Amino acid sequence: MKVAGELHLKPGKERSVKRRHPWIYDTAVARVGGRPSSGDWVAVHAADGSWLAWAAYAPASTLRARCWSFAEKEPPDEDWIAARVQAAVARRAHLSAVTDAVRLVFGEADGLPGFIADRYADQLVVQIQSAGAEANRAALLDALVQATGCHNVFDRSEGATRQREGLPPVSGCIRGAQPPPALTVHEHGVRFRVDVRRGQKTGFYIDQRDNRRLARELAARLSQQRPPRMLNCFSYTGGFSLAAALGGAADVLSIDASAEALAWAQAQWADNGLPPQLARWQQADAFAALRELRGAGASFDLIVLDPPKFAASHQHVERAARAYKDINLNALRLLAPGGYLLTFSCSGAIGVELFQKIVAGAVIDARVDCQMIGRLTAGEDHPLSMAHPEGEYLKGLLLRRL
Ligand code: SAH
Repeated sequence: MKVAGELHLKPGKERSVKRRHPWIYDTAVARVGGRPSSGDWVAVHAADGSWLAWAAYAPASTLRARCWSFAEKEPPDEDWIAARVQAAVARRAHLSAVTDAVRLVFGEADGLPGFIADRYADQLVVQIQSAGAEANRAALLDALVQATGCHNVFDRSEGATRQREGLPPVSGCIRGAQPPPALTVHEHGVRFRVDVRRGQKTGFYIDQRDNRRLARELAARLSQQRPPRMLNCFSYTGGFSLAAALGGAADVLSIDASAEALAWAQAQWADNGLPPQLARWQQADAFAALRELRGAGASFDLIVLDPPKFAASHQHVERAARAYKDINLNALRLLAPGGYLLTFSCSGAIGVELFQKIVAGAVIDARVDCQMIGRLTAGEDHPLSMAHPEGEYLKGLLLRRL
């Protein structure tokens, strides 16, 4: 491992690094020693000169360096990287009993800052989002192939995070064969199609696995009274719709702005042997559609709201809060007594407490009696590092209308 320089921090700025927070902002750096380039390894030093961490340098970003190792004697060389990848993959091994769609490496939470790897059956899909991960791309990919025995790797390194690191977007097959237009994966026995080339994220919302399962259980519970009616807003390819139908929902309305996602959803519906008459697919703006449903006097026993990230950063929190309030308020008005609402936010900038406050405000304004009976998160293959609370993004609440 070649060390290209040092970062000397301003007094006091060593505190978060000592608590193993991996991020060092430009404002924390007093001086750079040597001439490190993008992705190079640097030694991080406190103002008193003491050694703190091995970090990867990102000169283009305000997030100037990300720490990979906090042990001086454990520099992040190829063997170190291989061991981390191997350990991350091994921690997920038990998930193969329920699914072959798994997030194998989740960046900072697995000690590999900016490196994401998902597995869909025999296909690996990666997102390389930091200068450090980019500079160590070959070592990361070798380790991943070695740890999984999968030889096909598709790169979906696009998006804003990578851009902030001064890295161009890349997308394409980087190891093995081209992926088929639709890959088939199974989750708790349900069949899903995944388009790793063009689908959202790396093709599928792997993170909602446990919540899809919950939606199925709730539909089954409701079915004991009568077959529930389900509304899935921001449905994408209908993961929650399928889950509810397999749990016994009799009428499932899925709303999404993307016609392509809905076409994909319909194909999956058929793949799972579900009769088409149980489903309605509506291409619409969910904000407007919720109002229209209300105007038409519609009512549902199970509602899922899983919108895209409304707050891209802290600057957008207020506007995002209004948007969350709006959809939750209108959804709550459509919820039948005894019904359940699963409501989510995947905005990292909106914390669990704030989200709960927004939804509580919507409950009051909707004038419905509701209990919160659960807090929902991403599945365990999307862990959160206790040292890096910024890694938390997906949060949900499970409400029951009285
Ligand atoms: N619940 C999905 C993931 C949702 S992702 C799952 O579990 O798979 C967010 C979805 O919202 C995307 O499919 C996107 O097309 C859709 N979307 C974004 N803005 C929208 C809007 N204003 N109205 C309806 N759908 C929207």
